[in-house]
Amino acid sequence: MGFGDFSQKHGLVKKHPTAPIKKFRNELKRYCDVVEIDEWGTSKTCNKCFHPIELYKNKVIRKKRDGTRTKAKLSVINSVIRCKFNECSLCCMDRDINACKNILFLLQLQKAGKKRPQCFTPKNMNECDTP
Ligand SMILES: [Zn+2]
Repeated sequence: MGFGDFSQKHGLVKKHPTAPIKKFRNELKRYCDVVEIDEWGTSKTCNKCFHPIELYKNKVIRKKRDGTRTKAKLSVINSVIRCKFNECSLCCMDRDINACKNILFLLQLQKAGKKRPQCFTPKNMNECDTP
């Protein structure tokens, strides 16, 4: 079983210290094989093509009463992401689902004794950004 280290401060663990999670993890260890996975990069990398992803944005143009248009505003829909790579089929996916798939992928790599791809290691993030 793959288990993230909750190193990133988003989502459901924000208000809670890591202690209950450790307890939970220890409980899990009694029943199955728990592998800790570094979550770095999992929430901002596409699980299909490993290109960086961005938050999904919607252009909202509002008309004023006198007919003139106000500047287009970008509204960010929380936690919905979109792959920056146009040819990729990933679009409008929930951030957490994408991260989960990446963690599973990293778990399988780790189990197979393979290295993590560059986009999941902080040092090489710049190289990953520029294809
Ligand atoms: Zn993609």
